[in-house]
Amino acid sequence: MKTLIAANWKMNGSLEWTGKPAAFAAAYQPKQQGAEILICPPSYLIPSLAKACVGLDISVGAQNCHFAQSGAFTGEMSAAMVKDAGGTYVILGHSERRAIFGETDHDVVQKAVAVQEAGLCPIICVGESLEQREAGQADEVVGEQLRHSTPTSIIGGQKGVQNLVIAYEPVWAIGTGLVPSLEDIAAMHDHIRGTLAARFGEKTAQSIRILYGGSVKPSNARDILALGDVNGALIGGAGLDMESLAAIAMAV
Ligand code: PEP
Repeated sequence: MKTLIAANWKMNGSLEWTGKPAAFAAAYQPKQQGAEILICPPSYLIPSLAKACVGLDISVGAQNCHFAQSGAFTGEMSAAMVKDAGGTYVILGHSERRAIFGETDHDVVQKAVAVQEAGLCPIICVGESLEQREAGQADEVVGEQLRHSTPTSIIGGQKGVQNLVIAYEPVWAIGTGLVPSLEDIAAMHDHIRGTLAARFGEKTAQSIRILYGGSVKPSNARDILALGDVNGALIGGAGLDMESLAAIAMAV
């Protein structure tokens, strides 16, 4: 199972950023290295970035989509449209979408099913707030999010990897420079694997990639990515700079 290094550009970038994949490839040479690389730009950049990534072994994805295939949903984009634009992954339920745009587990699971039905792979984000962690509720909160925001069955997948990625992103670690201890990351990933095993069976759970996200940087990537149940990283700030992203990928 290839480690997945995914950059979430959020609402950052411009058409000029279509030069970034080539800069990344010059620094990392994805074809000769072990990790799978994914960049999720703002939706308007997906087609030009997908074009810029041809031949570079870098995938492109979206940061959100609508659950319907088409229709009267002003301002929205469907999973089929992400695919048409050249995307292969869709990040769903990021804590910013949950907190700022009021997205619920129910919204996330509907979108996840639509993404899989379109032949794309959902990256479903889960994670507790600081208050929840301090109250000792992190396992319970993440377990509930997993049970309610993942589809009951997985559509697609190949070469022993399921067409579903989970990203554990403690809300308090996103963009703050704070990172849980390695023990806490390992314990939560173990808990997530166990919850997935109860839902999908042990064999399937072992072939679902679980990413860690929250202030991943070149300086901490090696230790985090070396943990047994960490199968990659979802990266915000450090993924905007191609040298940093390459250094993180090199830590795999
Ligand atoms: C994120 O937004 O998903 C994220 C992990 O951000 P950062 O790496 O900047 O903490």
